[in-house]
Amino acid sequence: MENITALKEFLSKPRKVAIVSHRNPDGDAIGSSLALFHYLSRHGHDATIAFPSEYPPIFRWMPGAEYILIHDKQKEKANKMIAEADIVFCLDFNALHRIDKLGEKIEERTEIPKVLIDHHLYPEDFAEYSISNTDASSTCELIYDFIELMDDLDKIDDIMGECILTGIITDTGSFRYCTSAKLYRIVAELKDRGVDDIDLQNKIFNSQTAKQLRLLGYCLSPDVLTIFHEYNTGVIVLTKADYKNWRIQRGDTEGIVNNILRIKKIKLAALITEREGFVKLSLRSKGTFSVQEIASKYFKGGGHRNASGGMSKLSLEDTKKQFAEILPKYAEELTQPIHY
Ligand code: 5GP
Ligand code: MN
Repeated sequence: MENITALKEFLSKPRKVAIVSHRNPDGDAIGSSLALFHYLSRHGHDATIAFPSEYPPIFRWMPGAEYILIHDKQKEKANKMIAEADIVFCLDFNALHRIDKLGEKIEERTEIPKVLIDHHLYPEDFAEYSISNTDASSTCELIYDFIELMDDLDKIDDIMGECILTGIITDTGSFRYCTSAKLYRIVAELKDRGVDDIDLQNKIFNSQTAKQLRLLGYCLSPDVLTIFHEYNTGVIVLTKADYKNWRIQRGDTEGIVNNILRIKKIKLAALITEREGFVKLSLRSKGTFSVQEIASKYFKGGGHRNASGGMSKLSLEDTKKQFAEILPKYAEELTQPIHY
C-alpha cells in the first residue's frame, strides 16, 4: 500500500469504521474481521462488523463474535452501519457484488474511503487503499502485514493473535497449502505473544458433532462420492433430500470437499450441493491445477487457484452432467503427475 501515510493520517482521529466480509463467512473472513475489529477498537475507533449471512457455529467462541451483524437477519442495523461509517474495510473478498446488498450500500457511499485487504485472484478496483496479495495464505496474514505497516506490531496481543491464527489455520488447511517462511515467522511471533495454537487447532478441528462426522462418512460412501479415475477427479453430490434427512445446517458441510484430496492421485475435487433455487459448487485442487479457471469460466464464480466456488441455475442432474463434460477438456493437465 503506497498511500499508507494518508490512511494513517485518516485513522489518527477516532472514526466510525465498518468492517465487511463475504457471504458464508469462513475462518479467514471471521478471523480477519475480528482481528481488525480488536485492533481498531483498541485505538479508540468505533468499529462494527457485518456479514451478508450467518457464520458457522463452530466459530462462536471467537472473542467479539457476538457483536457481528448479519445482514440476512439484521438488515436495518447493518445498513445503518454502512450509512454512518467514515471508512469501510472490505476483507477477504475481491468485488463488491460478492457481498450482495451490503455491497450496493457501500457503492452508494462514494464519498468515504474504502480499504481492501484480500488474497483472492482478480480483485476489482473499487478501493482507495488496498492490500491485495494473491500469494498470501490468508487475509489474516495480510491483517498482520497491515498492522505492521501501521507500525503497530507491538500492539498485537493474544486475542488479536488468536483471531489472526484462526484464519491462517483454516485457509491453509492446517499448514498443508499456501505456506511460506514468512508465514511460519508470523505464527512463531503470535505464539510468542501467548497464542495457544494447539488449543486453537482443537477448537477448530476437534469440535465436530457426531452427526457432522457421520455426514462425512456418508459423503465418502460409494453412492455419494464418484471417482473419475481417468481424470483423477472426485465428486460428492448432496441432494435436497440429503439436506433434509441429515438435517444439514450451516457449517455442517464445511471442509468435506477437502477430504477427496486425501486420495493420493486425486488432483481435482468437487462438492456439488442442491440448494433452494440453485446448485452450489465447491472446488478444490492439488498443485498447479487451477479450479479458479473452472469456477469462473463455467460456474459464475471464482476464488483461489486451489480453492474456488461457483453456482449453477441448472438442475442438480444437469450440473453433474455439465461438470463431468468439462473434465475431458482438462484431461491432459489432470493426468499429468501433480506439480506442487
Ligand atoms: P467454498 O468452496 O469454501 O465455498 O469457497 C472456496 C473459495 O472460493 C473461497 O475463497 C470463496 O471466497 C470462493 N468462492 C466460493 N463461492 C464463490 C462464488 O460463488 N463466487 C466467487 N467469485 N468466489 C467464490
Ligand atoms: Mn481467505
